[in-house]
Amino acid sequence: MEASKEAFLREFGEHYGYPNGPKTIDEIRATEFKRLDGLVYLDHAGATMYSELQMEAIFKDFTTNVYGNPHSQSDTSSSTSDIVREARQQVLDYCKASPKDYSCIFTSGATAALKLVGEAFPWSCQSCFTYTMENHNSVLGIREYALDQGAAAFAIDVEETVHHGVSNGTAASMKVLQYQVQRRNEASSLEEPTGEAYNLFAFPSECNFSGLRFSLDLVKIIKEDPARILEGSPFCNGRWMVLIDAAKGSATEPPDLSLYPADFVVMSFYKLFGYPTGLGVLIARNDASRLLKKTYFSGGTVATSIADIDFVRRRKSVEELFEDGTISFLSIASVHHGFKILNSLTVSAISRHTASLAWYVRKKLLGLRHENGARVCTLYGDSKALFHDFGPTVSFNLKRSDGSWSGYREVEKLASLSGIQLRTGCFCNPGACAKYLGLSHLDLRSNFEAGHVCWDDHDIIHEKPTGAVRVSFGYMSTFEDAKKFIDFVTSSFIALPNWIESGYQLMQGSESRLGAASFYLKSITVYPIKSCAGFNVESWPLSTTVGGTFLNNTRIQACRAS
Ligand SMILES: *Cc1c(COP(=O)(O)O)cnc(C)c1O
Repeated sequence: MEASKEAFLREFGEHYGYPNGPKTIDEIRATEFKRLDGLVYLDHAGATMYSELQMEAIFKDFTTNVYGNPHSQSDTSSSTSDIVREARQQVLDYCKASPKDYSCIFTSGATAALKLVGEAFPWSCQSCFTYTMENHNSVLGIREYALDQGAAAFAIDVEETVHHGVSNGTAASMKVLQYQVQRRNEASSLEEPTGEAYNLFAFPSECNFSGLRFSLDLVKIIKEDPARILEGSPFCNGRWMVLIDAAKGSATEPPDLSLYPADFVVMSFYKLFGYPTGLGVLIARNDASRLLKKTYFSGGTVATSIADIDFVRRRKSVEELFEDGTISFLSIASVHHGFKILNSLTVSAISRHTASLAWYVRKKLLGLRHENGARVCTLYGDSKALFHDFGPTVSFNLKRSDGSWSGYREVEKLASLSGIQLRTGCFCNPGACAKYLGLSHLDLRSNFEAGHVCWDDHDIIHEKPTGAVRVSFGYMSTFEDAKKFIDFVTSSFIALPNWIESGYQLMQGSESRLGAASFYLKSITVYPIKSCAGFNVESWPLSTTVGGTFLNNTRIQACRAS
C-alpha cells in the first residue's frame, strides 16, 4: 500500500470505508461506479452520483411492473398508490418523523418546497421572517412573500461556542451577533396587532458553502424561548415556526425530527442518491401545515369545484391539498432503490466515511506552503470546529507566493484539465459568501456594477475573490479521489523556486541550475490560451521580458531528484 494511504488510514481508518457493509468502498467503486474511472468527481454538494446497480434495479422495476396514474381507480393505479405511500413512509423514517405528527409532500425539489412554504405561510404585517446569513438563495427568496405582506425580514448571524451533540448548556452559548432588518412598508409596523402573528425562522442543517453544520437545538430554542437569541427584534411577537433547509445536510445527517421537532424540512433526492432529479419533499408538521394558506387549486388538490361560479372545496389530507396535478409517480417509484443503498451502508457510516475525506483534505490544504513559507490555501469555515461539526465539504481559495489570489475560475479550469470536477463561485449562498470572503454591501454592489453576476468569469475584482472553490464528497468518494485532488493543488499552485524568474533556457531533464533543493525538471507544458489545454515541449526559452507571460502560460513540473 502506498505510504500516503497508510498514513491516512492510521489517522482516519476507523471512519473510512464500510467494513461492516455489504461491500467495501473499493468494491462499491469497482462494481457500481465504473463510469467514474479516471474522473475525480468532487461536487457531491451540487449533485451526488447514482449507482449503476441502482439504475439497473430501477430499469428492471419499470420494465416488469405496470404503473398507472395514482388518481385513476384501476389496479395499476392502486399499485402506484401503494408505492407512493411507501415512499412517503421511507422519507418520514429517514428523518425519524412520526406519521402522526408529520406529512411528506412531494414537490419538484427542495426549491419548490421552500417556495410552497413562502407562498402559503400566514404572513401578516406583525410577522417576522428571520434567517441565518448562511442560507441558499432558494430560502432567501421566501423574503419576497414576507415583505409583500408587510412582514419584517431579519438576517442574523448565530454564534455557537458549544457544538451540537453536547446537550448540556448548548442553548446558553448561542447568541445572535448582528442582524439586518428589512421592511418594504414602513407604516405596517405601526398597525394595530390583529389576531395571532406567525413568524418563520429558517436555517440550513448544513451550510452548502462552508460545510458547517448548524446546531438543531435552534429548533427548540426558537420555538420555546425565542427571546433568548432573538432579543432586540422588538416586533416579533407571536408564534414561531422553524424551517430546516436539509437539502445539503440530509445526504450525511438527516435531521432527527423526533428530537428536534421542526415545522418544515425540505430535501431533494438527487442530493441523497443521485437519481431522480426533479423530485423533492416538504416534510411538514401537521399542526403547522394546517395554518398554511393555499391559493391555487388544481387537479389533485380539489375535492369539487364548479366551473362557472366561485365554488371550490379542497381535499382534506395535507398531501392532497399541496400536491398540484399528477405527482411525478415514476420518479417517486424509483426512490426506494436509492434509500436501499443508504440504509444498507447506514447513514452514520456514510457520515463518518465522508467526514474522514473532508478532514484529510482540510488538513492537507492547511499544511501546504510555498517555498517562501507563505500559506497556499485559505479555508472558509471555523477551523476550531470539531470533527463532526462539518459536513463533507471544503471550501477555500488559493494564494500565490506573493500573497495575490489565484482566481477560482483558473482553479476550476485547470482542475477540469486534470480530470477533477469541482464547483466554484458562491454556490447560490450569497450570505455565506459575503461573510467568509469579507465582502461588504458596497463590495457586492460595486462588483455587480463592474459586471460580475453569478456564474461568470470575474473571479477577482479589486484584488479580492468574488467566490470560492468547493470540493465535496459523497458516499462513494475514495481516498484516491482526495489524494488526486491534493496532488493537483500541490503540482499546479505551489510556486517553484525563484530560478524561473531569472531567465535562461530550461531543458527537460536539466538539473544543474535548479539549486540546492536538488530539483530536476520533469516536464514543460505551454498553455497558449489561459485555462485551455496545453502542449508539452522539450525546451522553452525564457527572458525577463516574457517572464510574466511565461509564468501565466507555462507549467513546469519539477521533481526532487532522489
Ligand atoms: C441544493 C440546495 C438547494 C436547492 O435544491 P434544489 O434541488 O435545486 O431545489 C437548497 N438549499 C441547499 C442548502 C442546497 O444544497
